[in-house]
Amino acid sequence: MPIRSGFLAEGKPAADRGEALLAVIALVHSERAAYGKASMTVILGLESSCDETAAAVVTSQREILSHALAGQEDHHRAFGGVVPEIAARAHAEMMTPLVRTALRDAGKTLNDVDAVAATAGPGLIGGVMVGLVTAKAMAMAADKPLIAVNHLEGHALSARLIDADLEFPYLLLLVSGGHCQLLRVNNVGDYTRLGTTIDDAVGEAFDKSAKILGLGFPGGPALEQSARSGDADAVPLPRPLKGADEPHFSFAGLKSAVVRAAQSGSFRVPDIAASFQLAVTDCLEDRLRYSLDRMDAPPAALVVAGGVAANQAVRNMLQRLAGEYEMRFVAPPLWLCTDNAAMIAWAGAERFAAGLSDPLDFPARPRWPLDPGAEIVRGAGVKA
Ligand code: ADP
Ligand code: MG
Repeated sequence: MPIRSGFLAEGKPAADRGEALLAVIALVHSERAAYGKASMTVILGLESSCDETAAAVVTSQREILSHALAGQEDHHRAFGGVVPEIAARAHAEMMTPLVRTALRDAGKTLNDVDAVAATAGPGLIGGVMVGLVTAKAMAMAADKPLIAVNHLEGHALSARLIDADLEFPYLLLLVSGGHCQLLRVNNVGDYTRLGTTIDDAVGEAFDKSAKILGLGFPGGPALEQSARSGDADAVPLPRPLKGADEPHFSFAGLKSAVVRAAQSGSFRVPDIAASFQLAVTDCLEDRLRYSLDRMDAPPAALVVAGGVAANQAVRNMLQRLAGEYEMRFVAPPLWLCTDNAAMIAWAGAERFAAGLSDPLDFPARPRWPLDPGAEIVRGAGVKA
């Protein structure tokens, strides 16, 4: 909140200064009280950690005033995966026009926003730097607070943007191209990691398997499409770590089995795709059960986030499991599950409401775990 400048005028007697200081404190308190009751904050959020460049304007009252996004799939398709240097250059080209569009669509100027939030990690460092530096420049130029957002916190809190009834704590399955984690979301900035992948992320396994099967890029949606016409029982595939006495996930062995099945020439592509998808949901279900069965009382809600949350088979399994454990199942709309700037602006709004902001020298972080106290797991933590 801005403290009006010029309140403590130069050259006043010391006693007056004391009074003026008290007046400032009173003003701050009265504005805070008013803020708590009625005022609404407007946050500009930027995202550039992987292969989507995006800017959004979101209010503390859960209104998404605008969202502008540019994907980079055409840049990376020829390489079959995201090329960091190409991604960073594309972010640099797109970020400013997207910010202009987001502000214009929201009917706001930079002066109207209360804070500028940007993903500061984890992610591809060149891309993260583009968004973070842009946010810093705007924060400095317009004299607004900077909020450095952990991309994973953006995913973790995104469900609260669309569901005002979602209270802390809740259980979050974060399944994306870079991550597979089960977390208890205790509060803003307070997470307990229950499990993580010890090798590949789920989305990565989808993407690599789709590539092996010649299904194109990005692989997740293509593989799901192919699986629709396949027989999920046709190809025997392993379920890594199923039944293991540990809370973690593993997908690398499954991906290797897909390579062998494809090379054997004995199976149809849709059958391999369907069998792979079933193996993934089986693994996710087993690992979730492991953690749920060890809780005194599961939290009231199970939330899914990350690009793989777009997968209908995964959603159906989670919905069924949540019902069994008497939890509410919350799945944000698909566009909010994949990378976007509305979730970054919303995480910024949540952090701003909690009184949090960051210095302008906040570093871009390639790795940034949500739960820094979590044990280091063998092979895990590629990005978090
Ligand atoms: P990240 O930024 O970590 O790459 P995103 O949240 O942008 O992750 O999600 C992208 C990932 O989600 C990709 O790995 C993509 O294949 C996967 N994905 C998207 N849609 C589907 C789907 N329908 N089924 C399975 N995976 C999907
Ligand atoms: Mg992405």
